[in-house]
Parts: sequence; structure tokens; C-alpha cells
Amino acid sequence: MRWGLRPRGPGPGALAAAWNLWGPPRLLPCRPGWRGAARGLVVRSVAGASNQLQSASEGKYRDTVLLPQTSFPMKLLGRQQPDTELELQQKCGFSELYSWQRERKVKTEFCLHDGPPYANGDPHVGHALNKILKDIANRYHMMRGSKIHFVPGWDCHGLPIEVKVLSELGGKARDLSAMEIREKARSFAKAAIEKQRSAFIRWGIMADWDNGYYTFDGSYEAKQLRIFYQMYDKGLIYRSYKPVFWSPSSRTALAEAELEYNPQHVSRSVYVKFPLSKPAPKLASLIDGSSPVSILVWTTQPWTIPANQAVCYMPDAKYAVVKCSTSGELYVLAADKVTFVASALKTTFEVISTFSGADLENGTCAHPLIPDKVSPLLPANHVTMTKGTGLVHTAPAHGMEDYSVASQHNLSTDCLVDEDGVFTAAAGPELQNKAVLDEGTDVVIKMLQASKNLLLEEKLVHSYPYDWRTKKPVVIRASKQWFINITELKATAKELLKKVKFIPGSAQNAMVDMMDRRPYWCISRQRVWGVPIPVFHHKTKDEVLINSQTIEHIAKLVEQHGSDIWWTLPPEQLLPKEVLSQVGGPDALEYEPGRDILDIWFDSGTSWACVLPGTDQRADLYLEGKDQLGGWFQSSLLTSVAVRKRAPFRTVVVHGFTLGEKGEKMSKSLGNVIDPDVVINGGKDQSKEPPYGADVLRWWVAESNVFTEVTLGPSALNAAREDISKLRNTLRFLLGNVAGFNPETDSIPVNKMYVLDQYVLHLLQDLASKITDSYKQYDFGKVIRLLQAFYTRELSNFYFSIIKDRLYCEKANDPKRRSCQTALAEILDVIVRSFAPILPHLAEEVFQHVPYLKEPKSVFRTGWITTSSVWKKPGLEEAMESACAMRDAFLRSIPGKNAAEHQVTIVIEPGLLFEIIEMLQAEETSSTSQLNELMMASQTTLLPQDPPAMPADATELRGTFLINLEGGDIREESEYKVIVTPTTKEKCPRCWKYTAEASDTLCPRCADVVGGK
Ligand SMILES: [Zn+2]
Repeated sequence: MRWGLRPRGPGPGALAAAWNLWGPPRLLPCRPGWRGAARGLVVRSVAGASNQLQSASEGKYRDTVLLPQTSFPMKLLGRQQPDTELELQQKCGFSELYSWQRERKVKTEFCLHDGPPYANGDPHVGHALNKILKDIANRYHMMRGSKIHFVPGWDCHGLPIEVKVLSELGGKARDLSAMEIREKARSFAKAAIEKQRSAFIRWGIMADWDNGYYTFDGSYEAKQLRIFYQMYDKGLIYRSYKPVFWSPSSRTALAEAELEYNPQHVSRSVYVKFPLSKPAPKLASLIDGSSPVSILVWTTQPWTIPANQAVCYMPDAKYAVVKCSTSGELYVLAADKVTFVASALKTTFEVISTFSGADLENGTCAHPLIPDKVSPLLPANHVTMTKGTGLVHTAPAHGMEDYSVASQHNLSTDCLVDEDGVFTAAAGPELQNKAVLDEGTDVVIKMLQASKNLLLEEKLVHSYPYDWRTKKPVVIRASKQWFINITELKATAKELLKKVKFIPGSAQNAMVDMMDRRPYWCISRQRVWGVPIPVFHHKTKDEVLINSQTIEHIAKLVEQHGSDIWWTLPPEQLLPKEVLSQVGGPDALEYEPGRDILDIWFDSGTSWACVLPGTDQRADLYLEGKDQLGGWFQSSLLTSVAVRKRAPFRTVVVHGFTLGEKGEKMSKSLGNVIDPDVVINGGKDQSKEPPYGADVLRWWVAESNVFTEVTLGPSALNAAREDISKLRNTLRFLLGNVAGFNPETDSIPVNKMYVLDQYVLHLLQDLASKITDSYKQYDFGKVIRLLQAFYTRELSNFYFSIIKDRLYCEKANDPKRRSCQTALAEILDVIVRSFAPILPHLAEEVFQHVPYLKEPKSVFRTGWITTSSVWKKPGLEEAMESACAMRDAFLRSIPGKNAAEHQVTIVIEPGLLFEIIEMLQAEETSSTSQLNELMMASQTTLLPQDPPAMPADATELRGTFLINLEGGDIREESEYKVIVTPTTKEKCPRCWKYTAEASDTLCPRCADVVGGK
């Protein structure tokens, strides 16, 4: 039997035409989008056939029908979901998968470099989002045949851990030695790592869990020290006195990435007079000397006024001398700001004259607080007109731009504020020991009042940097720190970034912008929980000792014993003998080890050197949250560029943050924090927080648009569970209907399969190639959308509803049934592999239930989707579309009624369309043809002209169909008629189709099947 092509009449021409239509070759689909239209109709079609399973399972012929058989459960209830996952992890060797795939002899390697999460606190949904995305990528590449390199890491040092440990110790913390703090910090980090690791494993993440990397490991630290020296040796690392963000509450310098901006911060802003002491020559001619003249400045940080060294102006801007109607004094300010400032001061200004900023050159004014101190007027290009007076108070110790003006003009950069954020003795007795952001500000304002230089003080709400850890405001303060000169590195890095693929593409510019905003990278911190900056300071002179010999010596010690040696060994042992003898020997050592540690971003930024394999040491993929555009992506890039002028990554995928269901931040106070462990195992009240298992979490991750913010809440989790449940139903149907089928012996060759089955395989290979493409683009949401569309529309609503009669009512080994099963087995295989990277537990569970896999291996050990090129038959689409157009017309005419209770006559004028439809039905009238199966009618008649007589109860439907073949070369529009009449047959008691001659007799097909048993 050859249902694939059964042209009526023997002619070889017809046969050739049929091959053209059904065969794989030249015919191209011409009408994209038709399937959309077909979907509409197939949805409506379900009612007619869906009750067949139920009906066939009742009655006296129940034992003669072949209902689906599988032990694959429809639903996993309650604890069953998480428990089944744990069993599968054991049974299918989740923990051995990483080493198994490493041992394979394969040519390609895929390296995903794990950005180390911070070893602080419990696993949270942000971790889940990140680690699951990575795992989906890894599992996909592994199934496609690459060897995966994925070494999980942890960022173990740093202030957040140190602060947490100290705060837990309370008052006792002050008496602890550096080593005591380090030991406590280490055990704190270790405990956090353990907790996180077991959660990651529970989520099904495949990795080298026994050989992770840890930034507190001696070997890691030693490599980092060597990188530090390589950069130092190239002149990229230097020590300098500069203003940096300083956290008084943590007593350390902070990097930009360690700041949080508080938009509700309140500052006390002031308008201050700087009396003009020596006007510039041009300006002198504009004032008559009858009234005092002052330069007006405005600042939000009055406490920096004592450190003022200059006032800056914009040379190209227009300035004005104005007379204040209240005081009668003359003020100088930007011409554009006259109205605004006058109204702020609740007065009016009369403009006396205007002049160019350049005319202020060589002028000076008196310091508003320090008698006899002069502040020069200096040009600068950072002055803007958006805020203030257009004249900028400049305190080089407290501003990055102020500092650069000071370096150009040799101004003092002395800092009057100590590490606690308190004025030093140099600030004078009135200010000494006062906290600058507190009482210090208050006293400065009072002093300005006393000197009669304060014009106005007002509260200003604005965005201000806070210490990310202590949540307290920071200051900018000059101190001696270690820096990386990133000016040149940035230029090279930007060039190299052009060759890196970013997903989404916009992340590339965001990263460049963030790099541009960074003036320099301060890498020293004044804490103890970290890697020491490996230098020795001269005891009396401002000199440091560092060279290749000292570094090698320290690196070897650290490699063996860890960086504790910096605090535990006597200084003379930290130096190699040959160096020691040059610097005074053990008894008169002129140097002492420095007390600064490295910024943790330098720690983690050097991970490429410590973790990435091969001589290339470049990862195929970095995949992290968008905060890393200014963090780890950047510190990795800059250190890699510094050492070897190469980016450490080929592709960078950037995901958003996790938010609550309404897009709000997750926080304990809002009560919307979702604990991944509660998602998996359920909460205290399991009616409200049921145990969803890890696959639900993974599905949520995969289906979210991770390139924006990702929201999570109870309804997202419920929806994910519902989606998986629908997928389970599809899988159960597939598994149940391949029972008793052995692909090796029972498969039907593709060209001999039913046209409908061939068509489904055609759709399947299209699906497979789109799914593969989506994985390649890391667009897992698209994978899910493709898959869902396929199993709901093409399968459940269309294919499955049509084939049930063949599956249940034909003989077990009837080739018609085997044809269908051949397709089902292929569908099952493709679908399972398609979602396996996303839902590894469900994929393994299905593999355990495939009846013809006697000793099922893990699905992950059996490769990626394979489809056959012979499945691809674009010509089939034209045939199916035309038949479905007629079917649609028919089903639409009998809303809510059973299609099987009707018979259909299709009339098509002789021509191409007739020939196409004729392929599906050889006889004029048939209740067993492929065309009738598709119509799901009692019987279908195919005629080239109108029937001689129309029954009175007939409904006639008309339509046209445009055949479009071979890329438009063959176009032919044909009319067709569908004539629908109530069936004249009776309902067969076995198959419930209206194909029997009498209600108590079997239809001929069923009589044959039952009789043959
Ligand atoms: Zn029957």
C-alpha cells in the first residue's frame, strides 16, 4: 500500500506530477502565513473528534481498540514534583554528567566563564536567573557535541563580608587582629559558598562542582599578584594622591561600582560670596570701586569651602556684573544665571555690564573663611551653566575635576578631612574633630555667616552616592591610593570590543559609556579581608619596594600558604634573601609591608588568567546581569587588555534584574522576596506556596524576556506550572501511542507514509531548525514560544485530533497505524531534545518512559536533534493548505456539531487543484481515504463536476484556492464547492464513526479488524 501517492488512473504523467507534489525536491512554499490561517480552522475542528478516545474506550468493543498505554503520569502532585526530580538526578547521573562530557573525544570546546557570585548570603532568584541561563546554554552546546568548560567560581573577599563579620561581633570587633578578622571572614564566606553550591546543584546546573575557583585560594591569589606586577611593570599601576570616593562609615576608598545613588539625599546648599581682591584688568574698567564686588558661587557641599583653592569660570561664556537691589553690592556671575540667582536670593539684580569669561583671567578673590588667603580665578572646561552661578568653587582634595584643575595650575591638594570623615587639625580649631557631613557642615555655614559671606542656605534634595554596604553617604576625599591608569587601556579596549558580539546589541554601547565615565580605577582598599597589595613602604621616605624578585617570592609563598602570610610572617621573610640584604638585612630592615588590599573587582577581574583554559585563555561566552557592564565585564576586559591586549570573551550576553510581579524591587520590607528553595520545595503553607520543583523555576527563566527586567511572583510560577503541564499532556499522548511500536522493525519509510504524517514531519524539521537557531542566539524565550505553538496548534489541535481513529481502531500492525507511529516517535524525539536544556528533569523522565528504549541512557548523552532531509517537502504545504481550506469551510458550516455525522461532497473543476486533492482520495467516494480522515466526516465524495441531483438538506459552500508552486512559476486559481449533508450511515458501535450500515453492525473497517483478530 502506498498512501503517499495514489493517483487515480494509471497514467505515468500523473505519477510524475504526484512526485512533484509530494516529493522532496523543487517545490517551494509560496504563501507564507497560510499556516496562520489553517490554525484558525484546526482549532475549530477539535470538537468533532476529541470525544473519540472516550467513546472508543466504552462499550463492548472496548478491548478491541488500542488505547494509549504509558505509565508516564499526567501530573505530578504536591511533593511528587521535587521528589521525582531528586530521583532523576540520582538515576540519570546529573552529578557525573560534567566529567562524562569532559572525557569525550570531541573536537570543539565551548567555554562559558562563570562570573563569580559574591560569597555572601543565601541563594536568591537573581542567582537562579543567572545560573539557569548559563546551564541552558551549556547543555545545548554539549548536546550539539561540544566539550563544555564551565568552572563555577565565587568572589570571596571584600568589604561586604568584612563588614558583616564585624557587625555580628559588635563591640568585640575593635579588639580583633587582622588575622582574627580574616579567619572569621573566611569561614563566613565558606559557609555561604556551601549553601549556594548545594542550591545550584539542586537547580540542575551542570558544572565542575568539585573544582570550582575561589578568589581566596592561594593559587588564585598568586596568579593575581603576578598580574598586578605585570601591570605595574608596564607602568599601568601607580600610586598617587588623588580624590577618591571615600566611605567614612567603612573607613576605606570605594570604587564607582561600590556606590549606590540615593535620589532622596538632602544636602544643605549655599550661595557664597568670594570678595574680589584683584579684578582682572579688563574687569577693573567695568567697576568704579564705589561698592564692594564679589564673585558668587553655589555649592551643595559647604564643608569643602575650607579646602577651596580657586574659583573656575568658562572662558567662552558671558558673565555679568550686577548690582543687588537689597545689599547695593556688586556681584559677578554668569549672564545666563542672573534672573535665576536673583530670584533664588529673593532680590533683583541690575545688570551693570557684561563681559566674556576670558576677561576674568588673572583675577583673584579672597577666601570667604580664611583671612589673607587668596583664591585665583581660573579657566576650566568642566564649568557648566545647568546649575549654580556659572562660577565654580574648586576644592582639589574633594572633586575629580577640581583635582585636574589643581594639577594644571599647581594648586595645593591638601586634604583637611581624615579617614573617619572628620576635619583634621589643619582645618583649624573651630572645625577639628567635627564630622564633615554633620556638625562640620553646620559650623562651616555659621562661619560663613559670621564672615558675612553667606547669601543663602537652602535644603536640596538630589541624588548622592552612598556606600553600597553601610548605606551611608560617602565623600570625595584625596588620599594616597593605588590606581590603574586606564586612559590608554580604554582606547584599546574599545577597539577590541568592536569584535565582541553583544546580546542584546545595545549592551555594547552601554559598556563603552560606562567605561568612558570612569576617570581612573582606584584599586587600593584600607581593609584586611583581601589580597594584599604586594609592596613594601620605606619607613621614613616616600618610597616603595616592588620588583620581579619580590613578587615571585611573595607569589610562591601565597601559592603554598595563602595570602595570610602577609599578616602572619615577619617582614623579613616576605622578602627574598637577595633583596633583603640590599635593604638593611633582617635586623635593620628599612621597609615594611604595605597595609592596603586590592579592590575585589581586581580580584574577580583577573579570573580569566586563573580559570580559562588553553593558551588563548578566551571564553566563548560571558553571561551576567547588566550591573556587570560597569563591573566584572569591565574589570575582566581592562586587566586582560592590560596584560595581553586581548578581550577575554567572544560573546557577552547581558540579562536584566529580577523584580517583583508588578515590576517593583524585591525587598524584605515589601514581603515580595521569592526564595528559590520555597519555589522548589514549597513554603510553610503549601496551599499558598506549593512545591513547584526546579523545572518550573527553569521554565520561568527560559520563557522570560531576560534582556529586560524579569518579573517573578506567584502568578508567573503558576503559569509556568500550567505550561509544563500542557507539555506533559502532549508527551503523554506521544508516549502512550508509541506503545508496542519498535522503530527498528515497524517504521514506515517516509515516502510511503500517509501524506498527513509526511506533512507533520515536514513541519517538524522546520521546527527543529528554528529551535536550533534560537538556542544559538541564546533566545530561549523563542525556543519556548516555538515549541508551545507547535505542540498546541500543529499537534494537539490539528494532528492529534485527526489521527486518533487510525491509532485506536486500526489493527496494531496495520501500516496505516505504523505510519502514524513512525511520525509520533520522531516528534517525541525532537520535542524532548528541544526542551531538554531547559527542563532537564522532565526530559530525563520522558526518556525513562519511552517504551522502545530498553535501557534508557540519559538524554544528554545521546546528542542533539537529528532530522532527515527527506522530511523536507515544501510541496506538501500546498496540498495540505488546499485540503484544509475545504475542511475549514465544512467545519465552519456545522458549528458545535460532530463532523462525523455529516458527509461531504467536494466538487473541483478538472485542473491542478483537482489533481492535488485526488492524491488524497483515489475512489470517488470513501470513508477511509486520507481526504476523509482530514475532513473527519462520515464519508467524502470527490467530483470533477456537480452531482446530478442535490439533496434537499444539502448546504453548499463555495470557495477559491490559488495554487502557487515553484516560486510562483505555476499559479492557478481554482473554484471548489463543498456540499455538506447529514450522513445516511449509522454509527459504528466500535469506532463511533458514522460508517456503518446499521446501528448494531460494525462498519466494514471495524468488521475487518475485529474479524481478523
Ligand atoms: Zn468502525
